Amino acid sequence: MTVDEQLVPTDLDRFRAVVTEFVAARYPRRSDVVDTDPDAPVALPIVAGAVDPAVEAAAVEASRQWQRDLFDAGYGWVAGPTELGGAGLTATHVATLREVTAEYACPDDTLVRTGTQVLGPSMLAFGSDRIRTEHLPKIHRGDELVCQLFSEPNAGSDLANIQTRAERVEGGWKLDGQKVWSSGALHADSGVCIARTEPGSSRHKGLTAFFVDMSAPGVEIRRIEQMTGGAEFCEVFLTETFVPDDGVVGEPGAGWHIVIDALMNERSSIGNELLPEAAVMDRLLDHVRAGGDRVARLEAADVAGRLQVARWLERRLGEGYGPGDTPGPELALTKLALTDVVARMGALAALVLGPELVADAGRPGTYVWAEFVLGAPGLRIGGGTDEVLKNGIGERVLGLPREPVASRT
Ligand SMILES: Cc1cc2nc3c(=O)[nH]c(=O)nc-3n(C[C@H](O)[C@H](O)[C@H](O)COP(=O)(O)OP(=O)(O)OC[C@H]3O[C@@H](n4cnc5c(N)ncnc54)[C@H](O)[C@@H]3O)c2cc1C
Repeated sequence: MTVDEQLVPTDLDRFRAVVTEFVAARYPRRSDVVDTDPDAPVALPIVAGAVDPAVEAAAVEASRQWQRDLFDAGYGWVAGPTELGGAGLTATHVATLREVTAEYACPDDTLVRTGTQVLGPSMLAFGSDRIRTEHLPKIHRGDELVCQLFSEPNAGSDLANIQTRAERVEGGWKLDGQKVWSSGALHADSGVCIARTEPGSSRHKGLTAFFVDMSAPGVEIRRIEQMTGGAEFCEVFLTETFVPDDGVVGEPGAGWHIVIDALMNERSSIGNELLPEAAVMDRLLDHVRAGGDRVARLEAADVAGRLQVARWLERRLGEGYGPGDTPGPELALTKLALTDVVARMGALAALVLGPELVADAGRPGTYVWAEFVLGAPGLRIGGGTDEVLKNGIGERVLGLPREPVASRT
């Protein structure tokens, strides 16, 4: 596919100008939305609060439609290969688009992003021809939502303990097992599932990645309610679920490569995409300006500084990467910076709002922060906990001695 240089310019300034025009024609600025509605949500994506099912369904459709609009205009897969419908541009163009969309009240794209940012790059690198040519364009157009079927009741931080198994059958594989904490599984059309394919194998050996049709017989999905009241996570039960041979991602037995690749994508993507926007910080600062004491003012200055540093860190660390590169372990620093800032913003909200954070006293813009505070701990866990990320940075970035693990001693 040829890319129209007028609509999707390679020159960065022109690119920023055309995407700004495109986005501004469709959505208002976030700051304008808050000016008119101080109770506009300050929810954190993935760990949002309860919503009416009809509102949830409409939000999912809006998110798909927004991705379709982006894709059809040439901005849905900015760094993707042109032969598959991408624009063939750079990671800097991707970051520019993200900066522009963050300024406007575009639909939340968390569900789309699991496919485009976390699993898509791994499918592009390791997927079969069918997955690459049939599914990747649909995923980047929002026509297909993908969920990540990695964690299990006994395999979270210790993912190498996966017990879901896949057996060879005529023309493919049959999967049996249970996955948990699968974000957005209820809305997903497909999922990437890691299963054990070599009986008797242990740890990271003998695992295989499968591209699973979520509507296939034997797939059962149940929601899990979070402390925010929302229920975006799911348990997924697989009972004799068939996956054809070309649904294997990578080589059979080499699933651990896919796990590592996808987790690296996820950690840098969470750090990049979920950092609260300036408008959210500004809403918090409004409360400090209105009634914060000296302690709150000092804390506010500290948090605002950390938010800015987290933004710079994200840019600085992302600079060395081109399209298709697997993020290195140092990019986990962006996720640690995110969780630090979000936890501190929540603590500051509690400090300045006091009881109004937990009891709705009717003062505009106050109780709305409860969802943010309750969602914050989830971000410290999803995509790798703070402790696990720090272990990785210690061992793989700083070259410190590996921590003792029972299976390695
Ligand atoms: C918001 C969110 C979204 C998620 N989305 C998905 C998804 O879409 N798909 C999916 O497959 N999974 C998903 N998960 C699951 C997530 O990957 C796991 O919860 C996470 O890896 C931790 O695993 P666990 O819950 O089993 O906790 P555990 O691994 O049991 O950890 C418990 C505690 O022990 C600590 N710990 C564990 N090992 C070590 C160690 N070696 N050193 C030091 N401390 C350690 C942890 O830091 C943690 O504090 C999601 C989770 C959250 C919160």
